[in-house]
Amino acid sequence: MDQNSLIYFDYAATTPVRREAAAALLDALAHFGNPSSRYGFGREAARRVKEDREAVATAFGCSPDELFFTSCGTEGDNWAIRRGAELNRRRGKHIVTTAIEHAAVLETCRDLERQGYEVTCLKPGRSGRVTAEQLAAALRPDTALVSMMLVNNETGAVLPVADCVRAVKAFDPAILFHCDAVQGFLKTPEPLARLGADLVAVSGHKIGAPKGVGALYIKKGVRLPPLLTGGGQEEGLRSGTEATAQIAAFAAAVRAVAADETRLERTASIKDYTLSRLKQALPRLEVISQGDAPHICAVTLPGYKSEVVVRVLGDRGVCVSSGSACHKGRPSHVFAAMNLPKSWLDGALRLSFSPDSTKEEADVLVSALRDAAGSLFTTLS
Ligand code: PLP
Repeated sequence: MDQNSLIYFDYAATTPVRREAAAALLDALAHFGNPSSRYGFGREAARRVKEDREAVATAFGCSPDELFFTSCGTEGDNWAIRRGAELNRRRGKHIVTTAIEHAAVLETCRDLERQGYEVTCLKPGRSGRVTAEQLAAALRPDTALVSMMLVNNETGAVLPVADCVRAVKAFDPAILFHCDAVQGFLKTPEPLARLGADLVAVSGHKIGAPKGVGALYIKKGVRLPPLLTGGGQEEGLRSGTEATAQIAAFAAAVRAVAADETRLERTASIKDYTLSRLKQALPRLEVISQGDAPHICAVTLPGYKSEVVVRVLGDRGVCVSSGSACHKGRPSHVFAAMNLPKSWLDGALRLSFSPDSTKEEADVLVSALRDAAGSLFTTLS
């Protein structure tokens, strides 16, 4: 199917590469020097990476020397959690996280459990959020690290990370706080450094950069050991020749998104429009989460199988998700942790938006979903 005719409502899974990012990528590919080389051509590549780091750091609200390029959000999460736990191992082997984290966090915590760590998973309420009080009650003298996401990738719930950082630091400033902000970068009004977390991971492909680039913020003074050792790039903290073209594209996407000052309002407004049209057109539809973040919401069609609905919509060129793109058909651990009835779990759909999603596209989605629900209902009954 022609990509240009797709009706795409799966921006939380990934985003199209922005024009500015693609242009920067091509330009950087032409300047193929290695930033570690001493001659002018190499120094030019290093100068470009420096400028790109400054651009991403500005959007983060941090200093460029607190920002380290990675290959993806998953790498940032692994680096922060594995090495953060190691850094604080003298405190103990207790980690606190939430039951609604992305697999990049949960599977990393599970791996540490196999290595003798104890992991407490906070359960969300029906809202899909956890509270600072819940977190404070889970802290222990042997807690080494807390890992909490900013925006849930399936419900769009925004977790009270800044409050939680305050609760943790009031309990003991030595406990490290990591935040997976992969779905929050440039999607919430406050720059991420203001959360107060020690470590924050983000990913390029959620904001119009190509896949294969991300960043980890490491607050000044936090002596996080490297995950990758080698040639000493990124101040010795993330070895591996800098992915100059991906980094250039990431920075170009960040500059372009940050300059679009009405993006959050436009995204929220098209989400609200879509939800109200869906409720009118499909009386059986239930809203699981309106999403606090502007770009994600979750709905369900009880009695339907979301996998089937997603496939039928896909055949009509309409892209939505039955949950996180990483689930591969398994029921969502996020919706399960929210204690939703089974029929709601089975019929759950995630819709995610960009500031440039249009009402016309939303109308196509609504009529395609109404048709799909109608035809599947007839088949089932
Ligand atoms: N964390 C969250 C909340 C995500 O939504 C994702 C990707 O969907 C990741 C981490 C992983 O990011 P990446 O695909 O860049 O590895």
